Amino acid sequence: MKLILLGAPGAGKGTQARMISERLEIPAISTGNIIRDAMKQGTKPGLAAKKYVEEGGLVPDEIVIEMLKERLEQDDCKSGYILDGFPRTVPQAQALEEMGIVIDKVIDIEIPDEEIVTRLAGRRVCETCGASFHTRDNPPKQDGICDVDGGKLTIRKDDDPKVIEERLAVYHQQTEPLIDFYRKAGKFYTVDSSGEVENTTRQTMAALGLSQ
Ligand code: AMP
Repeated sequence: MKLILLGAPGAGKGTQARMISERLEIPAISTGNIIRDAMKQGTKPGLAAKKYVEEGGLVPDEIVIEMLKERLEQDDCKSGYILDGFPRTVPQAQALEEMGIVIDKVIDIEIPDEEIVTRLAGRRVCETCGASFHTRDNPPKQDGICDVDGGKLTIRKDDDPKVIEERLAVYHQQTEPLIDFYRKAGKFYTVDSSGEVENTTRQTMAALGLSQ
């Protein structure tokens, strides 16, 4: 199964990607995590991406597409994957088509803008595996420690309120048009993420035809 999770920053894509990944045993691929890793390692594409990420903008299509292509060539992607945060522009969606990738379902995780700042303020992300938690809505079992791999949980630099504003503007301008793009193609499902995580997960699983 090949899935795309669409949605604004803070909508809960990462959390749902992790749930689906555990359930279907396919990898969750977050271009945000790939980019942050490349930045940490100081690779050429990582260094090129840095200023866009820190300002809340999008990394240029050609850089992200190349990073994703490389990731999808790995063995664990053979029986499917969940794309979290890719595509974010129409040209990125077209690039997937040009790669001959047929997506089974697209799930749009929706949340009102007003809730996003609160959500992102409480977000804590694992330094090593990138798993995402929330101090109030989705707390880790042990404070400050990742449930998945025991890594340290930290606050992302771009979860600063000023950067969030820019990321939201970019989402509405460049990513939201993908809703129409995929709705026209069928296979499109909407999930309301404004309530409890369990409720969002229930809707996501229903969209995938899975019981919770
Ligand atoms: P995320 O972890 O998905 O919120 O991504 C963090 C940041 O990485 C975004 O704000 C962008 O700067 C960059 N990024 C992640 N995925 C993409 C993408 N598909 N296209 C362009 N930039 C991206």
